Amino acid sequence: MATAAVHYTAAAVTDRGRKRPSNEDAFGFSIEHGVYLVCDGMGGAAAGEVASSLAVGEVLRLLNRRAGSGAMPLPLLAEEAICAANEAIFSRAQRSHKLSGMGTTLVGLAVEERRAWVLNVGDSRCYRLRNRRLQQITLDHSLVEEQVRLGRMTRPEALRSPLRNVITRALGTHSSVTPDVFELEAEPGDLFLLCSDGLTRELSDSLIESLLDADFPLDELCARLVAAANKAGGHDNITCLLVRAE
Ligand code: CA
Repeated sequence: MATAAVHYTAAAVTDRGRKRPSNEDAFGFSIEHGVYLVCDGMGGAAAGEVASSLAVGEVLRLLNRRAGSGAMPLPLLAEEAICAANEAIFSRAQRSHKLSGMGTTLVGLAVEERRAWVLNVGDSRCYRLRNRRLQQITLDHSLVEEQVRLGRMTRPEALRSPLRNVITRALGTHSSVTPDVFELEAEPGDLFLLCSDGLTRELSDSLIESLLDADFPLDELCARLVAAANKAGGHDNITCLLVRAE
């Protein structure tokens, strides 16, 4: 039997939530180049918005300029674009007092036929739903997650910790950054979720799994996730990006 080509479709929703005055999350994607991004910005005043939208814009712009040249494999190209976006945010922050210290998380998915790479900096997440089971692909770069991994904290303690917002890696806060890269094989039917912590702080993995395991169009699934997070409190900005392999 010949191997059928895999195609991807995507939809995303971002929402301010119910408590925050503005939305510092950003998302972007290019189905043509096979790249999907979610960023969660931080910093005073409007700095977080600047950082997250700069990250999405720079990564897509650089991929757009370099893709198709065939000079570099996609995951390396994506990693290079993330490092260049880091430099752009860092140097912008250096030049402006108001933007000083701004940064952003970035979780990205790059796909090429059946091959997929997940790139991560910070505590936004990528999950994959396969055969109705949800699996977290990324590891949070957060203080509490690292304490859990070292056995110094339990997961319930981590969820309640006053330090749960502290992330240990971000884009734009230092002159260089190293994303985690996870290589996967995509199968038709796989559903990838990229999201900010405004979703995962409000909803358990099992609830996300049950919400995704429903026969709705992707934009409807995104809207249902966001509505559930708002119903659970909406304490933070909420962003969901869904990518389906078909
Ligand atoms: Ca957030």
